[in-house]
Amino acid sequence: GCPGRLPELKGNIRVLCRLRPGTPSSLVSVEPGPGGTVTTCYRGRHRRFCLDWVFPPDASQEEVFRELEPAVLSCLRGYSVCIFTYGQTGTGKTYSMEGPPEDPGIAPRALQSLFREMGAGRPHRVTLSMVEIYNEAVRDLLAPGPPERLAVRQCPEGQGGIQVAGLTHWDVPNLETLHQMLRLGRSNRATAATAMNQRSSRSHALVTLTLRAASPPRAPSTTGTLHLVDLAGSERARKAGEAGPQRGDPDGARRLREAQTINRSLLALGGVMAALRAHRPHVPFRDSQLTRLLQPALGPGTTAVLLLQVGAGAAQAYPRGRRIWARQSAH
Ligand code: ADP
Ligand code: MG
Repeated sequence: GCPGRLPELKGNIRVLCRLRPGTPSSLVSVEPGPGGTVTTCYRGRHRRFCLDWVFPPDASQEEVFRELEPAVLSCLRGYSVCIFTYGQTGTGKTYSMEGPPEDPGIAPRALQSLFREMGAGRPHRVTLSMVEIYNEAVRDLLAPGPPERLAVRQCPEGQGGIQVAGLTHWDVPNLETLHQMLRLGRSNRATAATAMNQRSSRSHALVTLTLRAASPPRAPSTTGTLHLVDLAGSERARKAGEAGPQRGDPDGARRLREAQTINRSLLALGGVMAALRAHRPHVPFRDSQLTRLLQPALGPGTTAVLLLQVGAGAAQAYPRGRRIWARQSAH
């Protein structure tokens, strides 16, 4: 338990935390489970954070998914669900979201679980899209042609929603095809990473599944959406860009710009989450491409789960953005 815990937050935003194996317990220690805590030690100063659920370093991929599965399956009842992995580069975001082939993470498990459930119940039409956001530019990871920057537009008044002009949406008849397409999208992201110096850790990757139930005649059809978001590393702009452009460092300006725009998207996401959690009338969705794209998925009646990744070496041990995500306890 956590004595300093704030009253239960309303709304459907849950913040989970996963500690990476190999993190020295002198830097981070956890009380695992529901209402768990994370205690960090920095320069002799201890800070304790309360979360909705904490996974210890030896938690399996299966244990993590077990906590997420009910939310994932609610998409088949027409709900919109967003799952994020958040943390500094190297803390295990991609491990949790994708996982190695022999120990799959959230995304492959979610898809398997959804298709198993559909096989047993109502048939659905499944469509997939996959984008990368890099330096506030949105790219289609499944486009047949060369990747182009896509425009994000607000739908006409009254229709709500967001439109990404030219984004491809693919019909996915079965699980095998879905896995193939995800591999394709992932390799498109990886190609860019090689070309652009570790770009993958500086971009957000969004997988979106839309599930439309085949409904009996005259009955309203239900459409659910699942967004799986592997966020860019949350390291600070100051650290990533350090002193900015310097003589003999032509990459400096680019790195600084990158760090600032990553920060803008992550900061905007934090601002949106904070506004939603506090039930503020104005939610600043328009502050970044990430939050504009996800606006329909973060509104009323939706579920968001943020998996905060913490751990490994000293530089990565501290949860950045903790004021936004975790509730610090009186200690
Ligand atoms: P990120 O995507 O946050 O930059 P990665 O997912 O690439 O971090 O993880 C960094 C390294 O740590 C990878 O080699 C990954 O396999 C390993 N790793 C992360 N989390 C775990 C875990 N729970 N169990 C085993 N290895 C892990
Ligand atoms: Mg990664």
